[in-house]
Amino acid sequence: LRVTFTPIHRRDKGITGTIAVLQDVTEQEKLEHSRRQFVANVSHELRTPLTTIKSYAEALNDGALEERELSERFVGVISNETERMIRLVTDLLHLSRLDSNQAPLRRRQTNVHDMLDEVADRFSFQLRQKSIKATVRVDSGLQDAWLDRDQIDQVLDNLISNAIKYTLDGGKIELTAKKQQSPATIAISVKDTGIGIPKKDLSRIFDRFYRVDKARSRNMGGTGLGLSIAREIVKAHGGSIALDSELNEGTTVTFTLPLLQEGGEIA
Ligand code: ADP
Repeated sequence: LRVTFTPIHRRDKGITGTIAVLQDVTEQEKLEHSRRQFVANVSHELRTPLTTIKSYAEALNDGALEERELSERFVGVISNETERMIRLVTDLLHLSRLDSNQAPLRRRQTNVHDMLDEVADRFSFQLRQKSIKATVRVDSGLQDAWLDRDQIDQVLDNLISNAIKYTLDGGKIELTAKKQQSPATIAISVKDTGIGIPKKDLSRIFDRFYRVDKARSRNMGGTGLGLSIAREIVKAHGGSIALDSELNEGTTVTFTLPLLQEGGEIA
């Protein structure tokens, strides 16, 4: 609570009273705090790869260049760290466009079954590498959805790449789409049989840069922004997103999208 006092002056009579203004600044301060936190996180996330790049470049300069095998390894590290930074900056730009509503949605009537089949195809190589079996199940007779395909592809890519990253070899991933009643929406789920998330982390899992295991996420090439981006895109579509998980059993992320009613109207 912020309190400000302003004295009331009357001609000849001096101060005759005081105006006290009580202002609730909790929301404002929370916003300011999370903004500062975000800037600190971004700086840290960018600084980490930069420090690595700097030290490996110095090592090359200090003589490692003379040894072919060593220098190839060092150049590999530099190139990986650079790629991570590019991914991070791309994700940050995407988030900032979503935050400022600079990315108007280009919605089209979309067949959900085709969309899920295509996303599974995009990941077929990575799925095969880890011997993970992916299945697509869509309610028969499900109407088309009304969505921006590029943006929803990004949501699906983020969820499926997480499902693959955090599932051990030989696991299973299920993509499903169902119609939900009141309000009539399409619910799309990505379910894995992976490592799961401890209950205590669930409430913060959509926060920017929040990760259960920072080292693991970094090793897997994660930026810690995938779920936040997914949430912003789903919100822009008027839908919602939720995550449910059991440690060592698996995780299910479900998001909803508006349905295209017969006659082309939006539900
Ligand atoms: P990251 O780039 O680290 O994967 P995300 O925002 O996509 O960032 O996810 C945030 C964190 O949530 C991850 O670091 C991971 O700890 C956890 N997480 C997300 N999806 C899954 C999943 N399918 N299984 C287990 N943990 C997950």
